[in-house]
Amino acid sequence: MSSLGKGIASASIGTLLQARGYSVRMKKLDPYINVDPGTMSPYKHGEVFVMEDGCEADLDFGHYERFTGVQCTADDSLTTGKVYEKVLLQERRGDYLGSDVQVIPHITNEIKNFIMAGHERVDFTICEIGGTVGDIEGLPYIEAIRQLKISLGSAGAACVHLTYLPYMKTSEELKTKPTQHSVKLLQSMGVQPDIILCRCEKEVSDEIKAKLSMFCNVKKENVVEALDAESIYLIPRRYHLAGLDRQVCVHFGLETPELEERAEVKICEKWGAVEHAIRMPSKAVKIAVVGKYTKLKDAYISLSQAICHGGIAHDARVEIDWVDAGMDQRDIENRLRAASGVLVPGGFDISGAEGKIAAIKFAREKKIPFFGICFGLQLAVIESCRNVGGATSATSREFSDNGEMVIDFMDKWELNGTIEARNPSGAKGGTMRLGSYLCKISVGTLAHKIYAATETTERHRHRFEVNIKKYKELFAKADLHFSGMSADGLLPEIVERRDHPFFIATQAHPEFKSHPFAPHPLFSSFIKAAIDHSAR
Ligand code: GLN
Repeated sequence: MSSLGKGIASASIGTLLQARGYSVRMKKLDPYINVDPGTMSPYKHGEVFVMEDGCEADLDFGHYERFTGVQCTADDSLTTGKVYEKVLLQERRGDYLGSDVQVIPHITNEIKNFIMAGHERVDFTICEIGGTVGDIEGLPYIEAIRQLKISLGSAGAACVHLTYLPYMKTSEELKTKPTQHSVKLLQSMGVQPDIILCRCEKEVSDEIKAKLSMFCNVKKENVVEALDAESIYLIPRRYHLAGLDRQVCVHFGLETPELEERAEVKICEKWGAVEHAIRMPSKAVKIAVVGKYTKLKDAYISLSQAICHGGIAHDARVEIDWVDAGMDQRDIENRLRAASGVLVPGGFDISGAEGKIAAIKFAREKKIPFFGICFGLQLAVIESCRNVGGATSATSREFSDNGEMVIDFMDKWELNGTIEARNPSGAKGGTMRLGSYLCKISVGTLAHKIYAATETTERHRHRFEVNIKKYKELFAKADLHFSGMSADGLLPEIVERRDHPFFIATQAHPEFKSHPFAPHPLFSSFIKAAIDHSAR
């Protein structure tokens, strides 16, 4: 079921196999009918992760990239919508002339092709299947892996089933029935799991493992405990100690005692420092994140991870205070007073925008370190135009058609030498400025100091831009400095204020490129500024 941690489990298998010297590629099959999650609500589905190539994908891809360091591409993310879109286009083109198009074999063939595409370049392809066993939408995927397991043989594929062992407080025991039934359901579809990963909040006894082994037709060593952990970065080693990667390797005939010993050393080398920083930080700092989706933490998962990485960089535990931008301005300010840094993340539409603008004003005036991301940059520009530049009607086209449109709809921009064009009433799916774009950084600015470079690339996901063509003078009056510009010099990418110890905002989403092993410089310098601020 969802929230069980299939994404983290897949990412953990990936990183553990890497530590054993293997190359991996991470993929995901999502059973929903949307072509991508780009138009879904972050409230229901969590964050939309943006890949380097601009693919809008499930948040699990963030875990894959953070755990393995391997960049995913549009070819790694499949949804039912995407499969059907492809098959139907092929049908219209006449590729299936003479035959009726069916789930088996046409849809299942596409799914198998997707899983195997690019596999020749790596040792392991790890492919997660979203959803729950038995879901109607998931049936073609289960059927596809059944077929694939036959063609690849046991030495070519392993099936890991993640299940839940609920703990009954009254009888103080872990229950195995849901796992038994879920496995039975899988078996009825022709798929026998090779390894069962049991998510649980209490240790799984030998007795329970033996019981699951017997009822589920799986070797006892292949019933692996997946205990809850206080941080996701403690999970890879925990799963390793429970024997997950060892059993995967045993399945493929890749295991010897010497290799096992070396794996132990390598995994400690890889994850030890991160674990130490998470477990025993020497400092603590509090950051207020002022946003709209503060009740569902998954809506900002890459953001909260990048903030945590910033803490790892400075040996600090970062407590995030999720401030609901819809609250009364006074209440927002009271919360910000207790924080050492204010972050306004990405967001959409007018609701909550005024609360975020008030938060930016407070951080600017009280000289609290401020970091704006995407929507956060746009609102920071509006705030400075209104309250420093005197343009009280400064606004964004996203909110209204009246006022000074300092943030406006972008109808044309350049992407790798070609012009991308949009119109305001055009389709909404996959049409934002998406993916990696070059940013040129001016020497001597805060951005230059942070990146220690004059060029960088960051991932984008937005429709609106700073209207520098029309409002150059107003921006100068508002004391806004555009320290990063797009490659063609036309679009502001980074803005900062010089009358403040740390006030910076970026039009891109740097959180997608931060890793526990390589914290993003913007996040690590923001956390550093917050630590310095709290020491004052
Ligand atoms: N809503 C803004 C835009 O579309 C910002 C988007 C974002 O923060 N990702 O331009």
